[in-house]
Amino acid sequence: MAEFDYDLYVIGAGSGGVRASRIAAQLGVRVAVAESRYLGGTCVNVGCVPKKLFMYGAQYHDEFAEAPAYGWRFDNLRFDWPTLRDNKTREIQRLNGIYTNLLSNAGVEIHHGHARLLGPNEVEVEGNRYTSKYILLAAGAWPFVPDVPGAEHAITSNEAFYLEQLPKRIAVVGGGYIALEFASIFNGLGVETHLIHRRSELLRGFDEDVANRISAELANKGIHCHMETQVTEIRKTGEEDVDLQLTDGSVCSVNKVMYATGRRAMIKNLGLENTAVQCNEKGQVRVNRQNQTDEESIFAIGDMTGGPELTPVALAEGMAVANFLFGEGKGIVDYRDVPTAVFTQPNLAMAGLTEAQAREVHHKIKVFEAEFRHLKHTLSGMQEKTYMKLVVDAETDRVVGCHMIGHDAGEIIQGLAVAMRAGATKAHFDATLGIHPTAAEEFVTMRQVSRE
Ligand code: FAD
Ligand code: NDP
Repeated sequence: MAEFDYDLYVIGAGSGGVRASRIAAQLGVRVAVAESRYLGGTCVNVGCVPKKLFMYGAQYHDEFAEAPAYGWRFDNLRFDWPTLRDNKTREIQRLNGIYTNLLSNAGVEIHHGHARLLGPNEVEVEGNRYTSKYILLAAGAWPFVPDVPGAEHAITSNEAFYLEQLPKRIAVVGGGYIALEFASIFNGLGVETHLIHRRSELLRGFDEDVANRISAELANKGIHCHMETQVTEIRKTGEEDVDLQLTDGSVCSVNKVMYATGRRAMIKNLGLENTAVQCNEKGQVRVNRQNQTDEESIFAIGDMTGGPELTPVALAEGMAVANFLFGEGKGIVDYRDVPTAVFTQPNLAMAGLTEAQAREVHHKIKVFEAEFRHLKHTLSGMQEKTYMKLVVDAETDRVVGCHMIGHDAGEIIQGLAVAMRAGATKAHFDATLGIHPTAAEEFVTMRQVSRE
């Protein structure tokens, strides 16, 4: 008889957990996964996918605004929130079904319920106990709302996906990915949108030029940006009304307030105390380069471990752990130049280093920039600007950072991230012919800016 019920027991069927379970099962070992909420995790249910669908919905605002300049005429244009919300939910339900099949077809057992560690090799789900040679923690993260008086009246991105009705006015608190994306979504859908951020710059960790420009773009689109401002109290003034007391002394009256102030690892009631697993000062599970925790038999991946909180990172880690334990992989994810996009209106994306980081690492760098009005906006007169920036190591000529604000920035930077991974130099970019007329062709014809 086998010593354990399973070779791998995965806690959490999100991006990382599903990938790890599936790969491990395909490598021929016995795998089970526990999921307490929804198959596919945050990304599929209350993250990347529904957010992008909402973003597509919001983008029609600008499309309709520009259409008359291209000869289109329409009357009685209006937006119907329940249609977008419910079509999105149907699509998510379809994806949930696909995830069930994906796991079942690979031979993974699915246990519905909250999983709790009983020891280094034992898990309890809904009163049932299971033993496993290895356990993988892939429980993700959950929105964090600061302890402000009246915080119980705030919603987070989780609830924003299911709002009964679209508010007339909303305040979004935060200056990171989720705050900016949702501010753009609500604004695009016609909601009076207030963005309240504690610092003078948005998007900590992004290139300063990009952060400053996206600030201006969001304001141009009509978002009311309250910078260097904090909410000190939330007062409910009616069934669907709240007043926000701000540090500048003013009161912001809205129908909904949404907090997007970061997320915390889901370690609550996970039973970590029954094992040697340790957390860092932010409450994230501590792992080594192989994603192994302080307990030899327990590994952890994704949002709960403190790396970049992105789906492709969780997927890569899930795959690396499965291959490390049961395949031939070394189990080490390469985190250099992780590309990322923020799906604001307009989009922004980056790969590699910011100018400031490159100065620290490479000391001598060259910076190339382009800023222009997209051809599409010339007929309509829309003021949105496209911005591109390359950061180049002056000694080796290697492109060490690519940044963009503009249409499909994520799609374009994804391609450039491959070039960067292959070690592309600025000379390679210059020698590449453009595709005309596109915005992306500017990346191969860029001028250096005089900034040493
Ligand atoms: P998750 O996907 O969160 O999965 C964890 C799973 O574990 C969940 O299903 C949870 O229910 C389950 N679970 C937790 N505890 C237990 C337990 N004790 N027992 C059983 N099950 C448990 N990333 C991108 O790359 N691009 C984007 O555009 C993007 N947009 C986002 C938009 C929003 C609004 C949010 C919130 C996130 C977004 N992300 C995006 C981040 C991305 O969703 C996460 O990085 C990714 O989902 C992390 O995967 P994970 O496997 O670590 O965790
Ligand atoms: P972020 O870390 O991106 O942003 C959090 C924001 O909240 C920051 O602006 C931060 O300000 C602010 N903040 C933190 N604490 C407080 C506080 N106590 N009071 C006021 N403001 C506060 O987290 P998000 O919640 O936006 O998203 C979580 C993660 O999910 C992201 O980091 C990203 O990795 C992932 N994600 C990815 C997306 C994508 O790939 N497109 C989309 C959405 C999410 P400060 O800058 O001053 O610290």
